Amino acid sequence: MSRPVLVVGGGPSGLSAAHALAAAGQRVVLVDKADRLGGAPILSGYAKLVPSGEWARDAIGGMVRRVETNKLVEIRKGVTVKSFTGSPGDFRAMLSDGKTVEAGAAILCTGFTHFDSVNKPEWGFGTYPDVVTTTQVEQMFSSGKGVRCPSDGREPERVAILLCVGSRDRQIGREWCSKICCTVSANIAMEIREALPRCNVYIYYMDIRTFGLYEDLYYWESQEKHRVKYIKARIAEVTSDGKRLLVKGEDTLVKRPISIPFDLVVHAIGMDPNIDNMTLSAVFDVKLQKHGHIEKASTYSNMSESSRAGVFVAGAATGPETIDDSIAQGQSAAMAALALVRSALLEAAE
Ligand SMILES: Cc1cc2nc3c(=O)[nH]c(=O)nc-3n(C[C@H](O)[C@H](O)[C@H](O)COP(=O)(O)OP(=O)(O)OC[C@H]3O[C@@H](n4cnc5c(N)ncnc54)[C@H](O)[C@@H]3O)c2cc1C
Ligand code: SF4
Repeated sequence: MSRPVLVVGGGPSGLSAAHALAAAGQRVVLVDKADRLGGAPILSGYAKLVPSGEWARDAIGGMVRRVETNKLVEIRKGVTVKSFTGSPGDFRAMLSDGKTVEAGAAILCTGFTHFDSVNKPEWGFGTYPDVVTTTQVEQMFSSGKGVRCPSDGREPERVAILLCVGSRDRQIGREWCSKICCTVSANIAMEIREALPRCNVYIYYMDIRTFGLYEDLYYWESQEKHRVKYIKARIAEVTSDGKRLLVKGEDTLVKRPISIPFDLVVHAIGMDPNIDNMTLSAVFDVKLQKHGHIEKASTYSNMSESSRAGVFVAGAATGPETIDDSIAQGQSAAMAALALVRSALLEAAE
């Protein structure tokens, strides 16, 4: 029998890798540092997902249940990997609970860390309770309570969503685009308009990147059907006049200073590299790319390979990714790992 494949991280990419391997009859050990599986969509309480409109708890929760009930998948929650030695087909992982796993290959599906808005203090987060993040708005929807101003629980009449918070920002060392936040923000804006039809929602942007088919479904739909307003602006600061929050900056289309009052300001936070990546790089002996994501060895011939043979990588661990692409990459990495452990088995039998 071949050795199991070690999958590190049980978010969308890790769940899809584990499922694909088990579906092919391959044993898997799935390790996650959190005490529940599901990754960011479950751990951060996302509401309805883009683009399917399914609740995260149903869509990703279903992927969790599929893996948790599979006898070929052994799950270790609340655990990290402390050391990883050996060679392809014959690795040995020491876990933080003191147990050892012998594995034929490993797949790193360790995802990302949400940008912490306290690193953008001039935009009001941490100073004003009614400046929140997109994850907080997702949690308001998924809890069933709806969107409210945290300071006093009232329904907001005016909401501003600020894009690119912690992305495309050289001043704070985040040069990448987080790919999905324009679309997620347009989706949130439409949901707010549906739930609170009298509420005006404004999206402040540098550029809109509702890529591919999302342009029509989210960018145009949000404006034409839901009357969401878009302002192309450079934001200077978020302050308060004592009654309402003020978003101050320059309207870059008309080149004039603007200061507009709001009840609720939402930061569309980006996807940072996982804060564990330095440790993961040392433990698994894999290279990181210049921004701190786990480096892929090849873009085309085998997109799942890391810089170390037998260690594969998938999903947002490699850079900002959507859920569907993370799932596809998990399956791709599963295929590569399966090919490796099966060929090691054949060689041993010869
Ligand atoms: C606000 C927001 C909303 C979003 N909404 C959508 C959406 O609607 N649709 C969409 O397509 N995408 C959305 N995304 C993107 C989505 O979150 C990612 O595509 C997805 O979570 C990536 O899945 P993943 O499995 O690669 O990583 P993650 O979801 O980050 O999962 C990684 C897993 O690895 C575990 N882990 C991390 N480090 C270690 C370690 N050292 N040891 C062991 N385990 C570890 C974590 O606990 C976690 O369970 C959104 C992103 C943001 C920021
Ligand atoms: S997807 Fe949109 S909001 Fe997110 S970083 Fe890119 S341009 Fe900014």
